[in-house]
Amino acid sequence: MSVLVYSESENGKLKKSSFETASYGKALSEKLETNLICVSFNCSDSKLLVKYGADKIINIDNANLKEFNSKKHSHALSQIIEKEDVSLVILSSSADAKYLGGYLAGITDSAYVSNVVQLPESINPFIVRRSCFTNKAFSSTEIIGDLKIISISSNSFGLKENNGDGTLETINIKEIETSFKVSNIEKQSGKVTIADADIVVSAGRGLKGPENWHMIEELAEVLGAATACSKPVSDMGWRPHSEHVGQTGKPVSSNLYIAIGISGAIQHLAGINSSKIKVVINNDPDAPFFKAADYGIVGDAFEVIPKLISKLRARL
Ligand SMILES: Cc1cc2nc3c(=O)[nH]c(=O)nc-3n(C[C@H](O)[C@H](O)[C@H](O)COP(=O)(O)OP(=O)(O)OC[C@H]3O[C@@H](n4cnc5c(N)ncnc54)[C@H](O)[C@@H]3O)c2cc1C
Repeated sequence: MSVLVYSESENGKLKKSSFETASYGKALSEKLETNLICVSFNCSDSKLLVKYGADKIINIDNANLKEFNSKKHSHALSQIIEKEDVSLVILSSSADAKYLGGYLAGITDSAYVSNVVQLPESINPFIVRRSCFTNKAFSSTEIIGDLKIISISSNSFGLKENNGDGTLETINIKEIETSFKVSNIEKQSGKVTIADADIVVSAGRGLKGPENWHMIEELAEVLGAATACSKPVSDMGWRPHSEHVGQTGKPVSSNLYIAIGISGAIQHLAGINSSKIKVVINNDPDAPFFKAADYGIVGDAFEVIPKLISKLRARL
């Protein structure tokens, strides 16, 4: 019996979320008194996972699995699950992992529970605490079955170094046939991805037009943050869809979320509820977002942002 972590990577390098899932996997494998296997795809730095407690790292080196494909990746993982006698699979909360979780559960006839926020409350029966109703509530969920799949809410467990002497094995894998083809992949344009970001600078229709986004990008650059936006902004093509945050977009669990010229509609808030500190900049003192904010600035973004950038540049 082993615990398996799916370690996501981008352009051949591990994503930050892979260190958190490995940290969680190690803590859980210790509770279960079993070993931790981390599986990556076409990744050049997967050995780094040893630092977070991986007992064994399997890197699947297969050119056909370079771009994420939930079906192909699920079939590849299912081969390893069977070979290594895995009883528990841990995923991140990325959009890719969410697609993969459902499909993998289907083909392995297992149970999949998302948005887990801490180590299991109990091992036997296996009960996890998960956030639900767009992070407004928590539920304790019992998972039954021989194989269990959980995904971890980002930043809920954190990184825990746990140096071990894990081994790295590079394997190829049986060719996997799927009936669908990926026709287009839209990459996020910013340097830091929303899922990995500690800080997210997000802007809405209050910015008036795409030509004003240089302020947002500059603020994000000073803070080392990812850029994001409200739905109408991506619908109008001012920003790529990969930046759209909210109920129908990406969830954000950053430590700091700065919302500029965003009204704070319920569908937007649904995606950022689990961010820790929310700062709102809006020229309307009655904007609903202020009710959800930890800090607020009532002011014109076109005056506030340049001042904020110059103050931050002077300090950082
Ligand atoms: C089924 C459904 C799903 C949806 N899913 C999502 C979703 O996932 N994400 C999402 O974001 N929305 C979603 N929406 C849309 C949502 O209801 C809102 O319409 C949207 O969030 C509003 O975007 P906004 O705040 O950028 O624009 P607006 O509502 O137009 O707000 C602009 C804000 O900017 C402020 N402002 C204007 N000028 C300035 C200035 N100079 N300086 C500072 N502030 C200024 C205004 O006071 C206002 O508060 C969804 C809607 C539906 C029906």
